[in-house]
Amino acid sequence: MGYLFRNLSLLEPEFGALQPGQEIRIEGDRVVEVGEALSAGTADVVDCGGRVVMPGLIDSHVHVMLSSVSIPSLEQVPLTLGTARAAKNMRGMIDRGFTSVRDTGGADWGLKQAVDEGSIVGPRLFIAGQAIGPTGGHSDPRRRTDVFGARCHCCNAMAFSMNVSDGAREVRKAAREQMRQGADQVKIMMSGGVASPYDPLDSLQFSDGEIHAAVEEATAFGRYVCAHAYTPAAITRAAHAGVRTIEHGNLIDAESAGLMAAKGMFLVANLVAYYAMKERAAEFGMNAEMLAKNDLVIDGALRSLDICKAAGVKVAFGTDLLGPLQVDQSREFLLRAEVLSPLEIIRQATSVGAEVVRMEGQLGTLRPGAFADLLVLDGDPLVDLGVFQGQGARMRAIMKGGAFHKSLL
Ligand SMILES: [Zn+2]
Repeated sequence: MGYLFRNLSLLEPEFGALQPGQEIRIEGDRVVEVGEALSAGTADVVDCGGRVVMPGLIDSHVHVMLSSVSIPSLEQVPLTLGTARAAKNMRGMIDRGFTSVRDTGGADWGLKQAVDEGSIVGPRLFIAGQAIGPTGGHSDPRRRTDVFGARCHCCNAMAFSMNVSDGAREVRKAAREQMRQGADQVKIMMSGGVASPYDPLDSLQFSDGEIHAAVEEATAFGRYVCAHAYTPAAITRAAHAGVRTIEHGNLIDAESAGLMAAKGMFLVANLVAYYAMKERAAEFGMNAEMLAKNDLVIDGALRSLDICKAAGVKVAFGTDLLGPLQVDQSREFLLRAEVLSPLEIIRQATSVGAEVVRMEGQLGTLRPGAFADLLVLDGDPLVDLGVFQGQGARMRAIMKGGAFHKSLL
């Protein structure tokens, strides 16, 4: 019954240094014992050959259903095709060692259940359902020539992933609807974005009453609100309204960061999306207006990490890559390394991510009681973040919930 991982160096992110000689015993989907010279009993012994073992990675900002860099083009993707592509995207993620991901718009309870029951191979999902924004905002991907007719959200991947609501009453209803559909967090749009055609980046989206409605409903249901926001003005509004996490936040300043720290908020940064879009999104059909907006935020991305560190804001690891750019997911580690240490980045992708999804002690750690989500690595990520590169090529084993996704041991 279960497994005993032996002959390894344990990387427990909150401890911070490798611990040789530790062993990990797993029963069912959980870690049950960590220590020296454990008794194997009936467990299968897994010899790790002296390699580093660490908790599975957490990406706190993905969109598995957004299979194109041009979100309006998802209108031509039927849900069947969108789901098939999501399955491929999710397999890529777990192959790269991401055993949990937080989807901030698109993934629904059906995908989550498909993973949980084994119909789709992928990371455990924390879902938002549809991302909610106002008419003309970041979740409104219509062309100017489009007007709203009846939008059936079963027909295509775009309408399935995005919600447009105006007025506190509609926002309240949309938030409730996402939670009825099993949302783990409610996603709202509070400033302009890159991958939407007409909203200026510094536009402030939603009125105070609309934001309040979303926060009130999410809180009442035992969930929380995550807000898409780039500018200090949008971040400040979100903080005062009781939003828990800021997504992107590239243009954050010291003052808005101080406010986030005081409120115990998280920033979910995602640098790689901007670099990948700058380099390759045009070839996949992203238009000039969107790429111009990308240029406005790319410089702020690294700066935001410094500002948050100085202010004491916890920053999680996110990527936000669309469609074919998702193969760049692990490059996020290398980009952050320009301003942060490997350990700081590893914590962002494990223990901080676990806090963001409110699974402290259960994810992002290998302490007893945690889910048995772990990686056996060919290399030490504390000195070489290259072990996360190459689509998982340097991962000898990947386990999620006590079951091997991969094992070359
Ligand atoms: Zn996003």
